Amino acid sequence: MMSNPNAAQASIVAPTSRPHDGFQTSRVYDELGMQRDPNNVYLQTIDAVLTAADIVGAPHHLQLILAQPKNETMVHFPVQMDDGSYALFKGYRVQHNNALGPYKGGLRFHEHVSLDDVKALALLMTMKCSLVRVPFGGGKGGVKCDPRKLSRDELMRTTRRFCVAIAPMIGPDTDIPAPDVGTNAQVMAWFADTYAQLTPDKPNGMAVVTGKPVEIGGSVGREKATGQGVVDVVAELAPEMGIDLKGARVSLLGYGNVGSWAARIIADRGAKVVAVMDHTGALANENGFDTVALAEYAKEHGGIAGFEKGRGGTATANNPGLGGDPISEKEFYSTKVDVFIPAALEQMINEENAEWIDAKIIAEGANAPTTPMGERVLLKKGVEIIPAILCNSGGVAVSYFEWVQNKSHVTWDIERVDEELNRHMVLAARRTKLARHRYECDMRTAAYIASLEQIAKVYNLRGIFP
Ligand code: GLU
Repeated sequence: MMSNPNAAQASIVAPTSRPHDGFQTSRVYDELGMQRDPNNVYLQTIDAVLTAADIVGAPHHLQLILAQPKNETMVHFPVQMDDGSYALFKGYRVQHNNALGPYKGGLRFHEHVSLDDVKALALLMTMKCSLVRVPFGGGKGGVKCDPRKLSRDELMRTTRRFCVAIAPMIGPDTDIPAPDVGTNAQVMAWFADTYAQLTPDKPNGMAVVTGKPVEIGGSVGREKATGQGVVDVVAELAPEMGIDLKGARVSLLGYGNVGSWAARIIADRGAKVVAVMDHTGALANENGFDTVALAEYAKEHGGIAGFEKGRGGTATANNPGLGGDPISEKEFYSTKVDVFIPAALEQMINEENAEWIDAKIIAEGANAPTTPMGERVLLKKGVEIIPAILCNSGGVAVSYFEWVQNKSHVTWDIERVDEELNRHMVLAARRTKLARHRYECDMRTAAYIASLEQIAKVYNLRGIFP
């Protein structure tokens, strides 16, 4: 990684390489009393951002500001279960930064949600919104629960009570949540309804969240937006990486909202999805899956396991196997592909399975799916990693369109949404490419640089109050 020649004039000296523990030497850690724990996803994320900040010569005070969220809220609330008992849930809302606009970011319902996790995801939202140039800051929230184990009514009550708990700190002009892992348009509908009931004086209370069902102010195209953005970015960058999407081989880790839409859209553009893995199992099909049938199957069965040959529509001579053959985890990672799309959770690509990966591009559909050690292995092997803040920013881009539509009481058609989304994604990809050429760095660092440059400009213009 080359450092910016101008960076020498900044207060921080750009590191040319990272020390053994994987962390750079920024004094930010010491000033903020942060431990250098290489397995902590928040610290991993901060470290990557600070590396870029050093290279670009971002002022020290900006590095300090970005290294900690502005507000971290933890709430506990009781919910009545269907059997009459009460469970106590823990929820979070982290507001990382709002220099560019209201805090923005999803709500995750997952059993492993933790404060550091939400902090990392909120920071990524700040970086993502800046890179894709939507006027939002970064936030994230979540509830520690397993939504698959909750009945529909329990999920609704959990959502409503969580909304009540964080209502004082969010709002259509201040902090706008959205769906994330474990939540969907229905959850947003309950959330928005609760918020509107709590704030009858607010004329546009339903605009407190994006990702709503279209019938109550959601945007067409929001559900597929993150997956579509992944494909828009891959399509923009693939040619110069020597890949033709037509006939490209693709594998997917995760087949939920992001994974299944990315699969369907990339297959529409002529690629073949040859391997898929999720929390229920892994499948391969050399002829390419019927991605639509697999999406329907996974939705109905809660995962891909069981979608084997003979399923997924009528087999024809040209398309002999629409389902797949079960494979092991190692076989899944080792499948030779052009594009590997991790679209599940954080930290899934690690030092061990990175060694197995046989791909030209990793397109990060999930947030922070690659550990720094995994990334190191991949970069050494010459694998290009399209980082999450670029690759999966389609979701928040269309969230922004939804918010604009809500605020101005208009609705856009799908052509307009698709076109605007593509424009945002292509420009973000070009910004990243430009930073990469200017600083001769990897793509993650370049994306952070392109994002930080905008944030630094805004801080420079606004100054620090008073
Ligand atoms: N949860 C999504 C993300 O991580 C979308 C956030 C939003 O639309 O606000 O990007």
